[in-house]
Amino acid sequence: MQKAGQKSNKTTSLAQIKADIKAKNICPDLAKTATNLVMGVGNPDAQIVFIGEAPGKNEDLQGEPFVGAAGKFLDEMLGLVGMKRGDVYITNIVKYRPPNNRDPLPPEKEAFWPYLLQEINVIKPKIIATLGRHSMEYFLPDMRISQIHGQPKRIGLGDGKVVILPLFHPAAALYNGSMRETLIEDFQTVPKIIELINNDN
Ligand code: URA
Repeated sequence: MQKAGQKSNKTTSLAQIKADIKAKNICPDLAKTATNLVMGVGNPDAQIVFIGEAPGKNEDLQGEPFVGAAGKFLDEMLGLVGMKRGDVYITNIVKYRPPNNRDPLPPEKEAFWPYLLQEINVIKPKIIATLGRHSMEYFLPDMRISQIHGQPKRIGLGDGKVVILPLFHPAAALYNGSMRETLIEDFQTVPKIIELINNDN
């Protein structure tokens, strides 16, 4: 039993990843223009991890992923499947805001990828829901999100296996009626996938 005030091993490991990113000065150009290094938030024991692309303006200012309009939409979809932020773990591949919200560049994604893998290795989720193509392409290379969204795929990762659920990015779907509907439909399969995985084990 954890004593009050005692940090879990997972919390300590996640704090260490953050310290390493700072100590190794990852993406110094992004670090210079960003306000905060935006690490993941949520339940370190979550069964599902959501991975976006990079912090936007609000995330950069508040130091937390998905707190702007896309984040509100993500919260809404979590609500639809009976979950809340505190039940899941939410992070990004790139952890500094790219200037003017431009797409993260390949070398930036490359530089942060090992730290994302470390984060995943600490949480040990059963499902990784990628939000948009930037995080999807690392787990499911050479696939097109328009063709495989909503289709869970089991892959080997580290020394185990995990199910990847590719989803459209909530920011892209926010103002696009049909993509929005598709994302909501895909999202609503999450409880069933978790149930199937748990029954499998
Ligand atoms: N979009 C992302 O990909 N990540 C965030 O944290 C916010 C918006």
